[in-house]
Amino acid sequence: MKRVSILGATGSIGCQTIELIEAAPERFEVVALTGGRNVALLAEQAKRLRPGLAVTCHDDCRAELTERLLGTGIEVASGDAAVAEAARMQADWVMSAIVGAAGLVPGLAAIRQGATLALANKETMVAAGPLVLEAARAHGATLLPVDSEHSAVFQALVGEDRAAVERVILTASGGAFRDWPLERLATATPEQAATHPNWSMGQRITIDSASMFNKALEVIEARELFGLAPDQVEVVIHPESLIHALVGFNDGALMAHMGAPDMRHAIGYALNWPERRDLPVARLDLAATGSMTFRAPDEARYPALRQARRVMEEGGLAGAAFNAAKEAALDAFLDRRIGFLQMAQVVEQVLDTMSRAGALRVDIPGLDAVLGADAEARERAARISRTDLQTT
Ligand code: NAD
Ligand code: MG
Repeated sequence: MKRVSILGATGSIGCQTIELIEAAPERFEVVALTGGRNVALLAEQAKRLRPGLAVTCHDDCRAELTERLLGTGIEVASGDAAVAEAARMQADWVMSAIVGAAGLVPGLAAIRQGATLALANKETMVAAGPLVLEAARAHGATLLPVDSEHSAVFQALVGEDRAAVERVILTASGGAFRDWPLERLATATPEQAATHPNWSMGQRITIDSASMFNKALEVIEARELFGLAPDQVEVVIHPESLIHALVGFNDGALMAHMGAPDMRHAIGYALNWPERRDLPVARLDLAATGSMTFRAPDEARYPALRQARRVMEEGGLAGAAFNAAKEAALDAFLDRRIGFLQMAQVVEQVLDTMSRAGALRVDIPGLDAVLGADAEARERAARISRTDLQTT
Protein backbone atom coordinates (compact mmCIF):
# COMPACT_ATOMS: atom_id res chain seq x y z
CA MET A 1 0.00 0.00 0.00
CA LYS A 2 1.26 3.46 -0.90
CA ARG A 3 0.38 6.08 1.72
CA VAL A 4 -0.66 9.23 -0.13
CA SER A 5 -1.70 12.79 0.72
CA ILE A 6 -3.24 15.33 -1.63
CA LEU A 7 -2.66 19.07 -1.11
CA GLY A 8 -5.28 20.96 -3.13
CA ALA A 9 -7.54 17.90 -3.38
CA THR A 10 -10.59 19.89 -4.50
CA GLY A 11 -8.93 21.53 -7.52
CA SER A 12 -8.61 20.39 -11.10
CA ILE A 13 -5.40 18.37 -10.53
CA GLY A 14 -6.55 17.20 -7.07
CA CYS A 15 -9.83 15.76 -8.41
CA GLN A 16 -8.07 13.94 -11.24
CA THR A 17 -5.55 12.52 -8.76
CA ILE A 18 -8.42 11.23 -6.62
CA GLU A 19 -10.09 9.69 -9.66
CA LEU A 20 -6.94 7.65 -10.37
CA ILE A 21 -6.52 6.64 -6.72
CA GLU A 22 -10.14 5.51 -6.49
CA ALA A 23 -9.66 3.31 -9.55
CA ALA A 24 -7.06 1.25 -7.60
CA PRO A 25 -8.25 1.31 -3.95
CA GLU A 26 -6.19 -1.78 -3.05
CA ARG A 27 -2.96 0.10 -3.81
CA PHE A 28 -3.46 3.34 -1.88
CA GLU A 29 -4.12 4.48 1.67
CA VAL A 30 -5.03 8.17 1.95
CA VAL A 31 -3.36 10.01 4.84
CA ALA A 32 -4.50 13.63 4.45
CA LEU A 33 -6.57 15.82 2.12
CA THR A 34 -6.53 19.62 1.96
CA GLY A 35 -8.75 22.11 0.18
CA GLY A 36 -10.11 25.64 0.34
CA ARG A 37 -13.67 27.00 0.31
CA ASN A 38 -15.25 24.07 -1.48
CA VAL A 39 -15.95 22.33 1.81
CA ALA A 40 -18.85 20.25 0.48
CA LEU A 41 -16.54 18.63 -2.07
CA LEU A 42 -13.69 18.20 0.43
CA ALA A 43 -16.06 16.49 2.90
CA GLU A 44 -17.43 14.24 0.19
CA GLN A 45 -13.90 13.26 -0.88
CA ALA A 46 -12.94 12.61 2.74
CA LYS A 47 -15.97 10.38 3.33
CA ARG A 48 -15.03 8.29 0.32
CA LEU A 49 -11.25 8.12 0.87
CA ARG A 50 -11.18 8.05 4.70
CA PRO A 51 -8.01 10.07 5.38
CA GLY A 52 -6.88 10.57 8.97
CA LEU A 53 -7.02 14.36 8.50
CA ALA A 54 -9.00 16.82 6.33
CA VAL A 55 -7.90 20.47 6.24
CA THR A 56 -9.37 23.65 4.79
CA CYS A 57 -6.92 26.54 4.44
CA HIS A 58 -9.68 28.97 5.53
CA ASP A 59 -10.43 29.23 9.26
CA ASP A 60 -13.96 30.47 8.54
CA CYS A 61 -14.71 27.19 6.73
CA ARG A 62 -13.66 24.96 9.61
CA ALA A 63 -17.04 24.78 11.39
CA GLU A 64 -18.80 23.64 8.25
CA LEU A 65 -16.14 21.00 7.53
CA THR A 66 -16.36 19.74 11.11
CA GLU A 67 -20.13 19.48 10.87
CA ARG A 68 -20.04 17.66 7.55
CA LEU A 69 -17.53 15.11 8.89
CA LEU A 70 -19.21 14.63 12.27
CA GLY A 71 -19.19 11.00 13.38
CA THR A 72 -16.71 9.89 10.70
CA GLY A 73 -13.69 9.87 13.01
CA ILE A 74 -11.77 12.02 10.50
CA GLU A 75 -9.83 14.77 12.21
CA VAL A 76 -10.53 18.31 10.95
CA ALA A 77 -8.22 21.36 10.98
CA SER A 78 -7.96 24.76 9.29
CA GLY A 79 -5.49 27.48 8.32
CA ASP A 80 -2.13 27.65 6.54
CA ALA A 81 -0.23 26.01 9.41
CA ALA A 82 -2.65 23.08 9.37
CA VAL A 83 -2.12 22.63 5.61
CA ALA A 84 1.64 22.39 6.25
CA GLU A 85 0.90 20.02 9.14
CA ALA A 86 -1.08 17.79 6.75
CA ALA A 87 1.93 17.77 4.41
CA ARG A 88 4.15 16.71 7.31
CA MET A 89 2.13 13.58 8.12
CA GLN A 90 3.89 10.35 7.26
CA ALA A 91 3.02 9.73 3.63
CA ASP A 92 5.10 8.03 0.95
CA TRP A 93 3.73 10.19 -1.85
CA VAL A 94 2.34 13.72 -1.67
CA MET A 95 0.56 15.51 -4.50
CA SER A 96 1.39 19.23 -4.49
CA ALA A 97 -1.67 20.67 -6.28
CA ILE A 98 -2.34 23.91 -4.44
CA VAL A 99 -2.43 26.84 -6.85
CA GLY A 100 0.11 29.66 -6.46
CA ALA A 101 3.05 30.33 -4.17
CA ALA A 102 0.85 29.09 -1.28
CA GLY A 103 2.01 25.61 -2.36
CA LEU A 104 5.66 26.27 -1.49
CA VAL A 105 5.69 25.88 2.30
CA PRO A 106 3.50 22.74 2.41
CA GLY A 107 5.55 21.20 -0.42
CA LEU A 108 8.77 21.87 1.49
CA ALA A 109 7.22 20.30 4.59
CA ALA A 110 6.55 17.09 2.65
CA ILE A 111 10.08 17.11 1.24
CA ARG A 112 11.51 17.47 4.74
CA GLN A 113 9.67 14.26 5.67
CA GLY A 114 11.52 12.54 2.83
CA ALA A 115 8.29 11.97 0.91
CA THR A 116 8.08 11.68 -2.85
CA LEU A 117 6.59 15.00 -3.95
CA ALA A 118 4.51 14.97 -7.13
CA LEU A 119 4.91 18.55 -8.22
CA ALA A 120 1.97 20.05 -10.09
CA ASN A 121 2.59 23.34 -8.26
CA LYS A 122 5.10 24.92 -10.67
CA GLU A 123 5.30 28.05 -8.51
CA THR A 124 7.38 26.03 -6.02
CA MET A 125 10.28 25.69 -8.46
CA VAL A 126 9.91 29.21 -9.88
CA ALA A 127 10.01 30.89 -6.48
CA ALA A 128 12.52 28.65 -4.75
CA GLY A 129 14.10 26.10 -7.12
CA PRO A 130 17.60 25.89 -5.56
CA LEU A 131 16.17 25.81 -2.02
CA VAL A 132 13.74 23.01 -2.90
CA LEU A 133 16.39 20.91 -4.69
CA GLU A 134 18.74 21.28 -1.74
CA ALA A 135 16.00 20.26 0.73
CA ALA A 136 15.16 17.21 -1.41
CA ARG A 137 18.83 16.23 -1.50
CA ALA A 138 19.28 16.71 2.23
CA HIS A 139 16.18 14.68 3.16
CA GLY A 140 16.37 12.00 0.48
CA ALA A 141 13.08 13.14 -1.06
CA THR A 142 12.19 12.48 -4.70
CA LEU A 143 10.64 15.19 -6.90
CA LEU A 144 8.40 14.01 -9.73
CA PRO A 145 7.18 16.64 -12.19
CA VAL A 146 3.44 16.63 -12.93
CA ASP A 147 3.25 19.64 -15.23
CA SER A 148 2.63 17.87 -18.56
CA GLU A 149 5.67 19.39 -20.30
CA HIS A 150 8.00 18.54 -17.44
CA SER A 151 6.63 15.04 -17.07
CA ALA A 152 7.30 14.67 -20.81
CA VAL A 153 10.92 15.83 -20.41
CA PHE A 154 11.38 13.60 -17.37
CA GLN A 155 10.14 10.59 -19.35
CA ALA A 156 12.33 11.42 -22.36
CA LEU A 157 15.35 11.54 -20.05
CA VAL A 158 14.92 8.05 -18.56
CA GLY A 159 18.12 6.09 -19.18
CA GLU A 160 19.87 9.06 -20.81
CA ASP A 161 23.09 10.79 -19.85
CA ARG A 162 22.05 14.26 -18.63
CA ALA A 163 25.36 15.65 -19.90
CA ALA A 164 24.29 14.77 -23.46
CA VAL A 165 21.25 17.06 -23.29
CA GLU A 166 21.64 20.06 -25.56
CA ARG A 167 18.23 21.67 -25.13
CA VAL A 168 14.67 21.19 -24.00
CA ILE A 169 11.75 22.43 -26.08
CA LEU A 170 8.45 23.10 -24.32
CA THR A 171 5.36 23.25 -26.50
CA ALA A 172 2.65 25.87 -25.93
CA SER A 173 -0.87 25.79 -27.31
CA GLY A 174 -0.93 29.58 -27.54
CA GLY A 175 -3.95 29.78 -25.25
CA ALA A 176 -7.32 31.39 -25.80
CA PHE A 177 -6.09 34.36 -27.87
CA ARG A 178 -3.53 32.81 -30.16
CA ASP A 179 -5.52 33.80 -33.25
CA TRP A 180 -6.69 37.22 -32.06
CA PRO A 181 -5.21 40.31 -33.72
CA LEU A 182 -2.75 42.02 -31.38
CA GLU A 183 -4.89 45.22 -31.14
CA ARG A 184 -7.83 43.28 -29.78
CA LEU A 185 -5.91 41.77 -26.84
CA ALA A 186 -6.22 44.99 -24.83
CA THR A 187 -9.99 44.45 -24.63
CA ALA A 188 -9.88 40.79 -23.55
CA THR A 189 -12.04 39.99 -20.49
CA PRO A 190 -11.40 37.42 -17.74
CA GLU A 191 -14.26 35.31 -19.12
CA GLN A 192 -12.70 35.24 -22.58
CA ALA A 193 -9.26 34.42 -21.15
CA ALA A 194 -10.62 31.61 -18.98
CA THR A 195 -11.35 29.28 -21.90
CA HIS A 196 -8.65 26.97 -23.22
CA PRO A 197 -8.61 25.45 -26.71
CA ASN A 198 -7.22 22.04 -25.62
CA TRP A 199 -6.85 21.57 -21.86
CA SER A 200 -9.40 21.65 -19.05
CA MET A 201 -7.69 23.27 -16.02
CA GLY A 202 -8.24 25.59 -13.06
CA GLN A 203 -9.24 29.21 -13.81
CA ARG A 204 -5.90 30.84 -12.93
CA ILE A 205 -3.64 28.58 -15.01
CA THR A 206 -6.07 28.86 -17.93
CA ILE A 207 -5.78 32.67 -17.94
CA ASP A 208 -2.00 32.32 -17.51
CA SER A 209 -2.04 30.17 -20.65
CA ALA A 210 -3.70 32.96 -22.63
CA SER A 211 -1.07 35.49 -21.47
CA MET A 212 1.78 32.92 -21.71
CA PHE A 213 2.68 33.62 -18.09
CA ASN A 214 2.08 29.91 -17.63
CA LYS A 215 4.72 29.07 -20.24
CA ALA A 216 7.07 31.66 -18.71
CA LEU A 217 6.73 29.92 -15.33
CA GLU A 218 7.29 26.56 -17.05
CA VAL A 219 10.50 27.73 -18.74
CA ILE A 220 11.90 28.69 -15.33
CA GLU A 221 10.55 25.47 -13.80
CA ALA A 222 12.29 23.39 -16.49
CA ARG A 223 15.54 25.25 -16.00
CA GLU A 224 15.45 24.56 -12.26
CA LEU A 225 14.17 20.97 -12.35
CA PHE A 226 16.58 19.75 -14.99
CA GLY A 227 19.60 21.92 -14.16
CA LEU A 228 19.71 23.69 -17.54
CA ALA A 229 21.23 26.98 -18.63
CA PRO A 230 18.63 29.65 -19.57
CA ASP A 231 19.37 29.37 -23.30
CA GLN A 232 18.84 25.60 -23.22
CA VAL A 233 15.07 26.02 -22.70
CA GLU A 234 13.08 26.88 -25.82
CA VAL A 235 9.37 27.37 -26.49
CA VAL A 236 7.49 26.54 -29.66
CA ILE A 237 3.80 27.15 -30.38
CA HIS A 238 2.09 23.87 -31.18
CA PRO A 239 -1.66 24.51 -31.37
CA GLU A 240 -2.69 20.82 -31.34
CA SER A 241 -1.05 20.10 -27.91
CA LEU A 242 -0.16 16.53 -28.91
CA ILE A 243 3.59 16.81 -28.36
CA HIS A 244 4.09 18.00 -24.78
CA ALA A 245 7.84 18.58 -24.87
CA LEU A 246 11.01 17.50 -26.67
CA VAL A 247 14.54 16.85 -25.52
CA GLY A 248 17.40 17.56 -27.95
CA PHE A 249 20.65 15.62 -27.51
CA ASN A 250 24.19 16.40 -28.61
CA ASP A 251 23.96 13.99 -31.55
CA GLY A 252 21.05 15.96 -33.00
CA ALA A 253 18.36 13.51 -31.90
CA LEU A 254 15.07 14.96 -30.67
CA MET A 255 12.98 12.80 -28.34
CA ALA A 256 9.35 13.95 -28.34
CA HIS A 257 6.70 12.91 -25.85
CA MET A 258 3.24 12.63 -27.38
CA GLY A 259 -0.18 11.92 -26.00
CA ALA A 260 -3.71 13.21 -25.74
CA PRO A 261 -3.97 16.50 -23.81
CA ASP A 262 -5.15 14.87 -20.58
CA MET A 263 -3.49 15.59 -17.23
CA ARG A 264 -4.37 12.12 -15.96
CA HIS A 265 -1.39 10.85 -17.95
CA ALA A 266 1.20 13.00 -16.14
CA ILE A 267 -0.55 12.53 -12.77
CA GLY A 268 -0.77 8.76 -13.29
CA TYR A 269 2.84 8.53 -14.40
CA ALA A 270 3.93 10.21 -11.15
CA LEU A 271 1.51 8.10 -9.10
CA ASN A 272 2.81 4.81 -10.52
CA TRP A 273 6.47 5.79 -10.98
CA PRO A 274 8.85 4.01 -11.44
CA GLU A 275 6.34 1.60 -12.96
CA ARG A 276 4.03 2.27 -15.88
CA ARG A 277 0.45 1.11 -15.47
CA ASP A 278 -2.70 1.23 -17.54
CA LEU A 279 -4.28 4.71 -17.51
CA PRO A 280 -7.75 5.79 -18.70
CA VAL A 281 -6.49 8.28 -21.29
CA ALA A 282 -7.39 8.35 -24.99
CA ARG A 283 -4.95 6.63 -27.33
CA LEU A 284 -3.83 8.80 -30.24
CA ASP A 285 -4.77 7.78 -33.76
CA LEU A 286 -1.97 9.39 -35.78
CA ALA A 287 -3.55 8.72 -39.15
CA ALA A 288 -6.74 10.41 -37.97
CA THR A 289 -4.66 13.29 -36.56
CA GLY A 290 -3.14 13.83 -39.99
CA SER A 291 -0.76 16.71 -39.29
CA MET A 292 0.77 18.79 -36.55
CA THR A 293 1.90 22.40 -36.81
CA PHE A 294 4.58 24.49 -35.10
CA ARG A 295 5.55 28.15 -35.10
CA ALA A 296 7.83 30.50 -33.18
CA PRO A 297 6.18 32.50 -30.38
CA ASP A 298 5.80 36.21 -31.09
CA GLU A 299 7.42 38.12 -28.22
CA ALA A 300 5.40 41.27 -28.93
CA ARG A 301 2.28 39.24 -28.23
CA TYR A 302 3.79 37.40 -25.26
CA PRO A 303 6.06 39.71 -23.18
CA ALA A 304 5.95 37.12 -20.37
CA LEU A 305 8.39 34.94 -22.32
CA ARG A 306 10.92 37.77 -22.50
CA GLN A 307 10.44 38.36 -18.78
CA ALA A 308 11.18 34.68 -18.06
CA ARG A 309 14.58 35.09 -19.74
CA ARG A 310 15.28 38.16 -17.68
CA VAL A 311 14.29 36.35 -14.47
CA MET A 312 16.65 33.46 -15.25
CA GLU A 313 19.51 35.87 -16.02
CA GLU A 314 18.94 37.81 -12.79
CA GLY A 315 18.57 34.71 -10.62
CA GLY A 316 18.47 35.22 -6.83
CA LEU A 317 14.97 36.26 -5.78
CA ALA A 318 13.80 37.25 -9.26
CA GLY A 319 11.69 34.08 -9.66
CA ALA A 320 9.90 34.64 -6.36
CA ALA A 321 9.20 38.29 -7.23
CA PHE A 322 8.15 37.46 -10.79
CA ASN A 323 5.66 34.82 -9.70
CA ALA A 324 4.18 36.91 -6.88
CA ALA A 325 3.83 40.02 -9.08
CA LYS A 326 2.15 37.86 -11.71
CA GLU A 327 -0.29 36.43 -9.12
CA ALA A 328 -1.21 39.92 -7.90
CA ALA A 329 -1.56 41.23 -11.47
CA LEU A 330 -3.85 38.31 -12.25
CA ASP A 331 -5.97 39.17 -9.19
CA ALA A 332 -6.21 42.76 -10.48
CA PHE A 333 -7.22 41.54 -13.95
CA LEU A 334 -9.86 39.23 -12.45
CA ASP A 335 -11.20 42.21 -10.44
CA ARG A 336 -11.22 44.28 -13.65
CA ARG A 337 -8.83 46.83 -12.16
CA ILE A 338 -6.38 46.38 -15.05
CA GLY A 339 -6.61 45.11 -18.62
CA PHE A 340 -5.21 41.90 -20.05
CA LEU A 341 -2.05 43.47 -21.51
CA GLN A 342 -1.41 45.51 -18.38
CA MET A 343 -0.62 42.35 -16.39
CA ALA A 344 2.80 42.16 -18.06
CA GLN A 345 3.35 45.90 -17.52
CA VAL A 346 2.68 45.54 -13.79
CA VAL A 347 5.10 42.62 -13.54
CA GLU A 348 7.76 44.54 -15.50
CA GLN A 349 7.49 47.58 -13.21
CA VAL A 350 7.78 45.43 -10.08
CA LEU A 351 10.87 43.65 -11.42
CA ASP A 352 12.44 46.97 -12.50
CA THR A 353 11.88 48.59 -9.11
CA MET A 354 13.05 45.65 -7.03
CA SER A 355 16.02 45.03 -9.29
CA ARG A 356 17.14 48.69 -9.13
CA ALA A 357 16.90 48.59 -5.34
CA GLY A 358 19.07 45.47 -5.22
CA ALA A 359 16.17 43.60 -3.58
CA LEU A 360 16.53 40.54 -5.85
CA ARG A 361 20.21 39.97 -5.26
CA VAL A 362 21.16 37.08 -2.98
CA ASP A 363 23.33 34.07 -3.73
CA ILE A 364 21.39 31.15 -2.32
CA PRO A 365 17.99 32.40 -1.14
CA GLY A 366 16.64 30.95 2.09
CA LEU A 367 12.92 30.51 2.73
CA ASP A 368 12.56 33.79 4.64
CA ALA A 369 14.16 35.74 1.80
CA VAL A 370 11.87 34.02 -0.74
CA LEU A 371 8.75 34.75 1.31
CA GLY A 372 9.94 38.34 1.85
CA ALA A 373 10.47 38.95 -1.88
CA ASP A 374 7.09 37.34 -2.58
CA ALA A 375 5.32 39.65 -0.11
CA GLU A 376 7.08 42.77 -1.38
CA ALA A 377 6.40 41.99 -5.05
CA ARG A 378 2.75 41.21 -4.32
CA GLU A 379 2.30 44.44 -2.41
CA ARG A 380 4.02 46.53 -5.11
CA ALA A 381 2.00 44.91 -7.88
CA ALA A 382 -1.26 45.52 -6.03
CA ARG A 383 -0.29 49.17 -5.48
CA ILE A 384 0.69 49.74 -9.12
CA SER A 385 -2.56 48.11 -10.23
CA ARG A 386 -4.52 50.55 -8.06
CA THR A 387 -2.71 53.77 -8.84
CA ASP A 388 0.18 54.57 -11.09
CA LEU A 389 0.16 52.10 -13.94
CA GLN A 390 1.64 53.77 -16.99
CA THR A 391 -0.64 52.86 -19.85
CA THR A 392 1.91 52.97 -22.61
P1 NAD B 1 -7.37 24.81 -8.95
O1 NAD B 1 -7.64 26.25 -8.77
O2 NAD B 1 -8.33 23.99 -9.72
O3 NAD B 1 -7.21 24.11 -7.49
C1 NAD B 1 -6.38 24.67 -6.52
C2 NAD B 1 -6.46 23.91 -5.21
O4 NAD B 1 -5.65 24.60 -4.24
C3 NAD B 1 -7.87 23.82 -4.60
O5 NAD B 1 -7.99 22.63 -3.89
C4 NAD B 1 -7.89 25.01 -3.62
O6 NAD B 1 -8.79 24.83 -2.56
C5 NAD B 1 -6.47 24.99 -3.12
N1 NAD B 1 -5.99 26.30 -2.67
C6 NAD B 1 -6.15 27.49 -3.34
N2 NAD B 1 -5.53 28.48 -2.64
C7 NAD B 1 -4.98 27.90 -1.56
C8 NAD B 1 -4.20 28.40 -0.45
N3 NAD B 1 -3.89 29.71 -0.36
N4 NAD B 1 -3.78 27.52 0.49
C9 NAD B 1 -4.09 26.20 0.41
N5 NAD B 1 -4.82 25.68 -0.59
C10 NAD B 1 -5.26 26.51 -1.57
O7 NAD B 1 -5.89 24.70 -9.56
P2 NAD B 1 -5.33 23.60 -10.56
O8 NAD B 1 -5.65 24.00 -11.96
O9 NAD B 1 -5.66 22.23 -10.09
O10 NAD B 1 -3.76 23.85 -10.41
C11 NAD B 1 -3.04 23.43 -9.25
C12 NAD B 1 -1.55 23.58 -9.53
O11 NAD B 1 -1.17 22.69 -10.57
C13 NAD B 1 -1.14 24.98 -10.02
O12 NAD B 1 0.13 25.28 -9.54
C14 NAD B 1 -1.09 24.83 -11.53
O13 NAD B 1 -0.20 25.73 -12.14
C15 NAD B 1 -0.59 23.39 -11.65
N6 NAD B 1 -0.96 22.74 -12.91
C16 NAD B 1 -2.27 22.53 -13.19
C17 NAD B 1 -2.63 21.90 -14.38
C18 NAD B 1 -4.08 21.63 -14.70
O14 NAD B 1 -4.36 20.94 -15.66
N7 NAD B 1 -5.04 22.11 -13.93
C19 NAD B 1 -1.63 21.50 -15.28
C20 NAD B 1 -0.29 21.71 -14.96
C21 NAD B 1 0.03 22.33 -13.76
MG1 MG C 1 2.05 22.70 -18.35
